[in-house]
Amino acid sequence: MSLPSPYQRHRTVAVRIGPITVGGDSPVVVQSMTNTDTADIQATVTQVAQLAQAGSELVRITVNTEEAAAAVPHIRERLDRQGCAVPLIGDFHFNGHKLLAKHPACAEALAKYRINPGNVGRGKKRDEQFATIAVYRELAGRSDHALHLGLTEAGMGSKGIVASTAALAVLLQEGIGDTIRISLTPEPGGSRSREVLVAQEILQSMGLRSFTPAVVACPGCGRTSSDYFQHLAQDIQAYLREQMPAWHEHFPGVENMTVAVMGCVVNGPGESKHANIGISLPGTGERPVAPVYVDGEKTVTLKGERIAEEFQALVTEYVHRTYGQADDEATG
Ligand code: SF4
Repeated sequence: MSLPSPYQRHRTVAVRIGPITVGGDSPVVVQSMTNTDTADIQATVTQVAQLAQAGSELVRITVNTEEAAAAVPHIRERLDRQGCAVPLIGDFHFNGHKLLAKHPACAEALAKYRINPGNVGRGKKRDEQFATIAVYRELAGRSDHALHLGLTEAGMGSKGIVASTAALAVLLQEGIGDTIRISLTPEPGGSRSREVLVAQEILQSMGLRSFTPAVVACPGCGRTSSDYFQHLAQDIQAYLREQMPAWHEHFPGVENMTVAVMGCVVNGPGESKHANIGISLPGTGERPVAPVYVDGEKTVTLKGERIAEEFQALVTEYVHRTYGQADDEATG
């Protein structure tokens, strides 16, 4: 869902990439890129589908060889067959024009072609420059083309997330940027989809878009020595994310919901009351009970071994009751 932008957007001319509009009045679009060998059709299809399922609205694949170009139409066809309509952007290198001319089916299957900036003109890698705030500002100042923001080689883990966020947040706040990608180096064995979640979180925390209900959790302190509430916050966040593909369809507006998970009685009830639904867990030495607040009112107090499951059920009930539509047949 897009929200009224809290920032004055730089005016750009809208362009269509398959069914997605980038620029103009459209919300900032999330894109991502596969790291499979594009010639490996099944591996690429699987990853594209995962990225799309995570919320990537455009997916870029590298088209660097004859084999990759030959694979692209098959990738598109398999995705279509499994109901995944996400537009594919071909990322081309110095031989792009030759591959496109020789593989018209590849050209046909792609919604957009992108010339990797590392291969433009002089052949000198200039990604660093593309990534600087000053360059994006200049580009925005000189043209009304829709702009893609991304910091290449941002790095791994928190370093990559912070570097990307620091640069992109400044530009987005200035209204610059129509589509973003967070280039994270995955941890060995880590999910590629993380870059999609980070992009969504940046846009959501800046108030530009809403994707998933927000879980507000206290940081924890000496008043709660157990990590129970950390697990509960994590499990609820994961549960909400898992449900979103179905909820998105059946429960419009649910992405704006706030769920609070608080660690003790000091701030727990106050913060929980401000959320749509919140729980205040018992801190160290407190009575082992967990009051639940719904729309600011205390409704029930949970206790015992199954607090997490019962709270999850209450969240689900709240979603059905508050965001459900009359003809809803969904989904738990
Ligand atoms: S809610 Fe309680 S446990 Fe959490 S940070 Fe505040 S005082 Fe500490």
